[in-house]
Amino acid sequence: MKIAIFSDVHSNLPALEAVLSDIKRQGVSMQVCLGDIVGYNAEPAVCVERVRRACHYVIQGNHDKACAVDLDIADFSSIAQAGIQYSRAHLSAEHKQYLRDLPLLKTTDRWTYVHASLAEPSEWYYIDSPREALLHFRVQQTPVAFCGHTHRPLVWLRDKSGEVATERPRQVMTLNRPAKYLINVGSVGQNRDRDPRACYTIFDTDKNAIEFRRISYDVRATQKKILAAGLPKALAWRLELGL
Ligand code: ZN
Repeated sequence: MKIAIFSDVHSNLPALEAVLSDIKRQGVSMQVCLGDIVGYNAEPAVCVERVRRACHYVIQGNHDKACAVDLDIADFSSIAQAGIQYSRAHLSAEHKQYLRDLPLLKTTDRWTYVHASLAEPSEWYYIDSPREALLHFRVQQTPVAFCGHTHRPLVWLRDKSGEVATERPRQVMTLNRPAKYLINVGSVGQNRDRDPRACYTIFDTDKNAIEFRRISYDVRATQKKILAAGLPKALAWRLELGL
């Protein structure tokens, strides 16, 4: 079975449409979204609709929660706050209910889906250091887990001795080391690895292999929508730089 797994759409409809049409050509039997459908960019409502229709499982991200619940957002950066306020104003009560009700994780006997870290999923820790990875792996029960949140695709693994290491994502990778794997699938709508293309993964469960796919989309179209919506210009500029 092939499973398409993507994350961090962040209201970027042109990027989401490019990814969903690429997925259609890959012969997958299931699609999973690891959260942060909304926030930052200009089209939150239609992105919620598309993801809800396309995916078997959708996990809650920190922006989904912040846009759906009237919580204090002082911890977010100023441009993230602007995106959250915009999404709050452009989502229906029904969309907010949907985002509010999303689960923090989904686990099967072989793999786990989470937005940020299994070490307290509702605290949204960034796995960007071996220490944070170790805290996550202490909780991960399945051989493979998938996350997003940092907007940077990466493979983490923890071997039998407890050592944590990373591998740079290659296009196709077989998960054949005697280790637990955590796959960061990158972001559809706002990558931060200096590559402006959308990113997602396909997990081939029979071959135990993942494929990182980078998809070009009309960045200019998304930028125009951001500026027309009155959102901060920096949200538009960062997309062409992959920041
Ligand atoms: Zn995000």
